[in-house]
Amino acid sequence: MIVVMKPDATQEQINHVVALVHEYGLKDHVICGTDRTVIACLGDKRAVDKGAIENAPMVEKIVPILAPYKMASLEVKKDKTQILIGPERFPLGGTKIGVIAGPCAVENRQQILQTARQAKAAGCIGLRGGAFKPRSSPYSFQGLELEGLKMLDTARQETGLKIVTEVLNPQEVEMVAAYTDILQVGARNMQNFSLLREVGRSGKPVMLKRGLAATLEEWLMAAEYILAENNFQVMLCERGIRTFETSTRSTLDISSIPQAKELSHLPVIADPCHSSGSWRLAAPLSRAAIAAGADGLLIEVHHKPAEALCDGPQSLTPENFDRLLETVAPVAAAVNRSVPGADARIKE
Ligand code: PEP
Ligand code: MN
Repeated sequence: MIVVMKPDATQEQINHVVALVHEYGLKDHVICGTDRTVIACLGDKRAVDKGAIENAPMVEKIVPILAPYKMASLEVKKDKTQILIGPERFPLGGTKIGVIAGPCAVENRQQILQTARQAKAAGCIGLRGGAFKPRSSPYSFQGLELEGLKMLDTARQETGLKIVTEVLNPQEVEMVAAYTDILQVGARNMQNFSLLREVGRSGKPVMLKRGLAATLEEWLMAAEYILAENNFQVMLCERGIRTFETSTRSTLDISSIPQAKELSHLPVIADPCHSSGSWRLAAPLSRAAIAAGADGLLIEVHHKPAEALCDGPQSLTPENFDRLLETVAPVAAAVNRSVPGADARIKE
């Protein structure tokens, strides 16, 4: 349930309600909105005397949270979450589309530095690149691990781009977080609950990919695990789901984007590369995702896709990536958003 305070409630009155909530064995989460404070109360509510809370000074009302996810729900937090990325505080979830680009996997120092420079020149906020790869086959390239993280760190220092990289298990969260600005939880790990708790505790922004066969509700429940650790910096990433269609690698679920945004305050990123498995589909799917309300794009870019150690067929060359951004710009403008370098791109 949510306790809604009256607009002029003092900190002391808020603290009084929080203390009451604790007396009933519930966990609280205080959310200060633009005009009022609400207190989300989480836990077993059977023993709660709602009247005692409702009659506390400056309490306006108690509202039940109907959704099974609580903190992720728009019912609890009406203001959309903007995740402020890096010292420049780029607001992911604001009007500018946050673009994160880079290879599927970090392969060597020269490759990641070259891609980082190109991503920077294109106006990206983040550089992606896997150092720990969740491959379907144990015989495929598994990533450069710590060496790869160090190469990402070098690219960050040179370009200022924020690093987005995947962490595969709870034991490695601390190490990966030391080199990373946004921790990625991959589709295959969406319901690895101990990993979700650990990335929640890291305090770092988290990009939570939708599981290959996860419903919208399961995806939001997974986000709830991270939020329950008091980490509100969660972005959802729609990366396609398994369907009967085999002409694409997965099916980008466009409808999940507006739905997630209707149910939750969390920003939503679209990944047109893993969903389609084809670089040719990345631009049209990016346009569709932006039109549907996506707050960001995650794009695989490789200077020689044919030689990529991982996901070459869905990787764009830097030239194709630039073209993608050009064709996305007018769509973004049509829905009152903008992509990096938008004005220049629209005029061209
Ligand atoms: C990736 O982003 O490289 C990746 C493995 O994605 P997903 O978890 O969506 O398959
Ligand atoms: Mn990939």
